[in-house]
Amino acid sequence: MRKVRAAVLTATNRPFEIQEFELTNPPEGMAKIRLIASGICGTDVHIYKGKIPVNMPAIIGHEFIGEVEALSASDSKQYGIQAGDRVIVDIACPCGHCRLCRAGDDANCVHMGVTNGGDPAIAPHLYGGYAEYNYSPVKNLIKIPSELNPVMVDVFACAGPTVLHAFQLAEKAGCKLREISTAVIQGLGPVGMFALLYLKAMGVPNVIAVTGSRKEERDQYARQLGAAAVLSMADDGQEGILAVIERYNDGLAADLVFESSGNPRAVPQGLGMLRNRGVYLIPGQYSNSGAVEIEPQKITFNALHLIGSSQYAVEDVKAYLQFLQNNPQLYAAIDRLHTDYSVPQINEAFQAVQAGKNIKTLLVPER
Ligand SMILES: [Zn+2]
Ligand SMILES: [Zn+2]
Repeated sequence: MRKVRAAVLTATNRPFEIQEFELTNPPEGMAKIRLIASGICGTDVHIYKGKIPVNMPAIIGHEFIGEVEALSASDSKQYGIQAGDRVIVDIACPCGHCRLCRAGDDANCVHMGVTNGGDPAIAPHLYGGYAEYNYSPVKNLIKIPSELNPVMVDVFACAGPTVLHAFQLAEKAGCKLREISTAVIQGLGPVGMFALLYLKAMGVPNVIAVTGSRKEERDQYARQLGAAAVLSMADDGQEGILAVIERYNDGLAADLVFESSGNPRAVPQGLGMLRNRGVYLIPGQYSNSGAVEIEPQKITFNALHLIGSSQYAVEDVKAYLQFLQNNPQLYAAIDRLHTDYSVPQINEAFQAVQAGKNIKTLLVPER
């Protein structure tokens, strides 16, 4: 029986262990999938640090893209997935019958489960993304259209649907993107980068990126993706940033601020960058990073609109793929944003993520 490698998290804040697992035939309902690319996400760093608890040992990772190698004939027929298909694994398992699921809010199901929480000691072992193979329920696979390069797709496999879901909630709440003239993105990780290119693709005239401190290479990418200005709290300060926003927005503060830094301090700062009746969209505070002081009066007096968003659903993954298909002019720019490591290089890759080194860090097959 052939063996493949996976990175196993055995305890928080400890290096991943590279372990070998036997490949088996997938059980009924699951597919066996060979790694093409698997992203390391900010959420994984929170898991690693114990800020989001998981059962250990675990193979974490939720941005797996691969080629289907095996599944049963009946699963293939039922879900329209075949061996040879390239797929994104969506790890979310909404219950399908709670009040939120029934209302179409399955991304926020109150009984949400995940596919990657299985015990690696129990066959088929490889439930999570940090591995050379993955076994996932066939119903959680979304086929990638053949014209899309699957490695390029993986760059925003999680950030893309996260952003699209947030904007979908904003739309539901009456926020119309076509009426936005000036938007601010806080934070330039993958979520912020995708929000930037999405807003530009949707025709928002002025998108200003704000970070904690300047980073030349990353800031340059943001300008290439269409940012009107890339500012930092360290160099420009709240007042300086507000002045730039007002210059772009006919003397008004921002129409929309999108929080994707994950830093709690960004929230009072972001609230202070909005015009009256402005929209604050907050998908960037995924794990609890502590409390900050805000002035509720600002929300009242400026009549602000605050919208939170966390996970995404299968429909958002499909919308992400559709967005890519509609925007081939973005492929080259997106494909420049990833830095690749093999599964055995996981600890090196993870350190790079924690140091904020790469825009997007991917695990790919060893060459
Ligand atoms: Zn993610
Ligand atoms: Zn539910």
